[in-house]
Amino acid sequence: MESHRFEADVRQILHLVTHSLYSDREIFLRELISNASDALDRARFEGLSRPDLRPAAGEPGVKISVDKDQKTITISDDGVGLTHEQAVEHLGTIARSGTKAFANMLKERGETAEGLIGQFGVGFYSAFMVAEKVEVRSLSALPDAAPIHWVSDGGEAYELTTGDRADRGTDVILHLRDEAIEFCDTDRLREIVAKHSDYVQWPVIVGEERANQDAALWTRSPSEVEDKEYIALYKHISGDWQDPLTWVHVRAEGGVEYSAIIFIPKKRPWELDRLDYKVGLKLFQKRIKVLENAGDLVPRYLRFVTGVVDSAEIDLNMSREILQQTPVVRSIRKQLTKRVLRKLVELSRTDADAYTTFWEEYGHIIKEGIHEDGEGAKDQLTELLRYPTTTSDGGLRSLADVKKDLKDGQEHLWYFTSVDKERIGKAAALEGFKKRGWEVILMSDPVDEWVVMSLREVEGTALKNAATGELPPLPDEDEDPITKAAKEQATPLVSWMGGLLSKDVAEVRLSSRLTDSPSVLVDREGGMGANMERILRAANQQVSATKRVLEVNPEHPMVKTLARLNADGQTGLEPFARLLLDHAAISEGRLDDPEGFAGRLQALMETAARGLAAGAAPVTPTEVLNADGSPA
Ligand code: ADP
Ligand code: MG
Repeated sequence: MESHRFEADVRQILHLVTHSLYSDREIFLRELISNASDALDRARFEGLSRPDLRPAAGEPGVKISVDKDQKTITISDDGVGLTHEQAVEHLGTIARSGTKAFANMLKERGETAEGLIGQFGVGFYSAFMVAEKVEVRSLSALPDAAPIHWVSDGGEAYELTTGDRADRGTDVILHLRDEAIEFCDTDRLREIVAKHSDYVQWPVIVGEERANQDAALWTRSPSEVEDKEYIALYKHISGDWQDPLTWVHVRAEGGVEYSAIIFIPKKRPWELDRLDYKVGLKLFQKRIKVLENAGDLVPRYLRFVTGVVDSAEIDLNMSREILQQTPVVRSIRKQLTKRVLRKLVELSRTDADAYTTFWEEYGHIIKEGIHEDGEGAKDQLTELLRYPTTTSDGGLRSLADVKKDLKDGQEHLWYFTSVDKERIGKAAALEGFKKRGWEVILMSDPVDEWVVMSLREVEGTALKNAATGELPPLPDEDEDPITKAAKEQATPLVSWMGGLLSKDVAEVRLSSRLTDSPSVLVDREGGMGANMERILRAANQQVSATKRVLEVNPEHPMVKTLARLNADGQTGLEPFARLLLDHAAISEGRLDDPEGFAGRLQALMETAARGLAAGAAPVTPTEVLNADGSPA
């Protein structure tokens, strides 16, 4: 007799499983049938290349029987079975990633995760929800393997000895707890199979009769499949315990023949942004699983989907490496892309809430597609884009929405990019747009920089960066004599500042985009924007800083005063000019020269304080600051 201790994560799960009450205990059967079905899949697949494997004793399938006297349920399969080593590895440690995620959640949330075990499923260990003792009798299909016998009461350890099973496959024997005796009943079990395991590809025989459907869901006509059947299939293949957000069922005839069911999960898998992410698309050839993760069946920007694709035209020995180059696969990929995108466009039109959920989870991935333009689907992808805007109050708008509501003179789809999501809508560069009542699209995803680079226009309307170029004047702006005078007076100030600040900025000019702020930094048209620079730096890329443009608001009181003093030939205005640059940088959340700024600010405060003290002699900034702004 050999006794083994369970791995720590398993012990923790088992402790919870054996000490809690569940509303969803019946899913133990789903988990065990799913393991049996996996074992049958593997036996069939491996048998293709290994004729020396032990054959199944009869028609392969899953058989479930009960013994009312012994209070046991036995789930038997003719699958690959388990060797001694495999039993240690697979039944004593955590094999499946879903269970691993559950174990991690337990660590994070502690006991509160209990209620989820039922819905979530913890694989093989679910058996202990209903059983006080579990036995596994197995014979591996490998020709030289010996039968094994595994027993555990779900405590700290299990026993592993030589068994006596004569044919390849596995029996899992559950010794039911008293309070789970209701499951010792074939009618009840048949009901559970129909509810949770109807989609299983192998016959599931309960007692004498087959309890599951005998046609794969995806080969049936969509009009004959009920929603709950799709949902059950989804849960089976994804291991997700929530319903999917939506799905598409395709049966293509004429051309490449295939059928597919593609699901979109409600929540994106957390590993989705990793380069080695494995797409949850299973590829079948006439219901025989060829590949578990056939990522090449969809472009990368749809990698969040999960589902099944089945085609008679697939080669059974297809490897992941050659998948992409196969014309059949390329054709399926192209069609599937269209169908999935069409479904998403439809969702965006018919169910705004569901679509918002979708966009929040997957929007940034869809945007990658605009740049890659995989499968020539740019137009459909563009239709899917959603952004908050300066007038949407946090709501999401499509580019078509914005285009439809363009104001007179607005002409372009104006956008503004900044990864500073919290403050993007408050940027000074947007003031003039707000004054004109023009809607500006707010883009705070790094990938948006690539979106606008590849998009350029939407059905003839150009996208234009609100942070570059000059705004057209307001229709009545030039007629306003006060504005006109302010501009005229500020013009010499601006050209003087241009010389003064030539090391720091590319240009100083009058602004038509400001109302409240005295100054703002904007990007040069055609040059790399500050936001892009920031994104590339964050990605550890070498980028040289591009000089930006300082715009000055001629109508701001401070600028007006400066312009007047400058026109009067007043000297010592340099620190103030520099403060306008400081101001613009700070309002973007940056400060390139903190010491210099502190000096300028201090001087300014001293000047103001002395001015406030009655009778004090006025002090000019030149007494405390040098011309370059450093303290004297
Ligand atoms: P998962 O099925 O997701 O891998 P489980 O906890 O359900 O995780 O099962 C753990 C492992 O135990 C399986 O991966 C498999 O290797 C092995 N196993 C469980 N049941 C069987 C069975 N009936 N036949 C062969 N192997 C099995
Ligand atoms: Mg399993």
